[in-house]
Amino acid sequence: MSIAPLTDLSRCAIHTFTTKPLNLAQAVSAYQAAGVTGISVWRQHLEPYGCTEAARILADAGMSVPAYVRGGFFTGSESERGASIDDNKRCLDEAAAIGADQVVLVVGATPGMPLADARNQVTDGIAACLDHARGCGVKLAIEPLHPMYAGDKSCVNSMRQAREIWQELGDPLVGVAVDVYHVWFDQDLAEEIRLAGADQRIFGFHVCDWKCDTNNLLLDRGLMGEGCIDIRGIRQLVESAGFAGWIEVEIFSSTHWAKTQTDWLSEVTAAYLAEV
Ligand code: ZN
Repeated sequence: MSIAPLTDLSRCAIHTFTTKPLNLAQAVSAYQAAGVTGISVWRQHLEPYGCTEAARILADAGMSVPAYVRGGFFTGSESERGASIDDNKRCLDEAAAIGADQVVLVVGATPGMPLADARNQVTDGIAACLDHARGCGVKLAIEPLHPMYAGDKSCVNSMRQAREIWQELGDPLVGVAVDVYHVWFDQDLAEEIRLAGADQRIFGFHVCDWKCDTNNLLLDRGLMGEGCIDIRGIRQLVESAGFAGWIEVEIFSSTHWAKTQTDWLSEVTAAYLAEV
């Protein structure tokens, strides 16, 4: 039997990319007006403001920031890898400045590089950022991405591959962000969520939907209920594994971005209550 729907928005957070046309200040006031108190901030939405101003806007509105998005991209040549580590440290500083709990890592992949080698580079890259993350008090959440991104965006394409990295590093600051879009089809999902939860490594839970008739795999994600993912079933898995944190709505959609964003937010909150 599946769990009951959520009865309020108290755990609802929205990624600023879900309302891409809004700048940070507009997003904060629109989320507030919609009754949403969590916001996961993307770097491109922080950039025009800088950390100090962004932190003030978020704090004045009383917003919680579960995640800062995104760091990672650890693979490449020696010089690329060095630059990436520097950039991830800056990303951690920015996350700390706005009070974010975690940085989400899209770990990277390099065309032509064997995936096993890429995963080793990712492990080394995260290891090189750990002391800095500790100093910032910010966690690092590996987000496994759908295998369609294995060529050039993420060599970590399953919860198990993420687990192999956080287990090897053995540091409680490194865990996983479970995004239903990227893991819903994984036959080991229930067991992997259980293992991650048992070690308290589920840092984030991202929701949207997979449209069977999608016209673009990046920019045509569905609102919860528009697709085929058993979102509530996956929420049941993460909650049974001990996760009680923010439920982050992350939807990239040209169709939805074309709408008046306050109307779009009303759809988001309604779908959150009905489908998650
Ligand atoms: Zn995500």
